Amino acid sequence: TSQEMERLGRLAAMGAMAAGVGHEINNSLAYVLASMAFAQGLLERSVQDETRAPIEWQEELREVRGALEDASEGALRMRDIVRDLGALSRGEGQKEALDVVWLDESLELALRMARMYAEGCVELEVRVAKGIRVRATRSGLTQVLLNLLLNAIHAVMARESGPRRVQVRGEADEGRVALEVEDTGVGMGPEALSRVFELFFTTKGPEKGTGLGLPISLRLVQSFGGTLTLSSEAGLGTRVEITLLSV
Ligand code: ADP
Ligand code: MG
Repeated sequence: TSQEMERLGRLAAMGAMAAGVGHEINNSLAYVLASMAFAQGLLERSVQDETRAPIEWQEELREVRGALEDASEGALRMRDIVRDLGALSRGEGQKEALDVVWLDESLELALRMARMYAEGCVELEVRVAKGIRVRATRSGLTQVLLNLLLNAIHAVMARESGPRRVQVRGEADEGRVALEVEDTGVGMGPEALSRVFELFFTTKGPEKGTGLGLPISLRLVQSFGGTLTLSSEAGLGTRVEITLLSV
């Protein structure tokens, strides 16, 4: 019956959502754990070395504090993701649930997390106009940007040779904000490109990819009243364009 169909559809959507929550929380959790392990390593080394001068102690404690701040940032993001996905499942695209978000802030946080994955071997070039405000949710926008940056970094690292560059550009123009993430990574052919918004479509293998980053990002951007499009060429790279409503 059509009622049953509807119920099955809702269940499938919920399952996908649950997996999505897992995916996003996993990204944040990895960041929290790495930051905490770093802090712990620093503390252990300082405790073991009794010859350390007080001035060195101070320097190390500052580093520990920085790492703990990173860890709590990741934990707060997990809290926000849970909150926002709850909001998303209650009613997607409800304009009244959206905030005014500073693009710089979300981008800064996403970049800091992305840099941990880039391991210093990808050049991240950012040219985004200052002071842009958009209609979105802060954690949702951060999530979209992080997903796009991670995909770009993965694509660039999967490349054997050639330039390893990811560029982020953004500008506001007449009520719209245009944002671009462009990479010089492995790119995709038309077959893969046509499937990137399918739930669970991944070419990274089950350990590395979930195939949820882009479908979730598309959904979030659409719920902000924006658009997300990809263009790509195998062996050359990929460009993702987002438009958002500026405030
Ligand atoms: P995941 O990253 O977990 O695989 P996504 O939904 O983020 O899931 O991406 C789906 C697939 O789209 C990826 O597995 C990859 O094949 C392709 N893809 C996404 N972004 C890029 C990119 N910047 N360059 C090349 N391929 C990409
Ligand atoms: Mg991804």
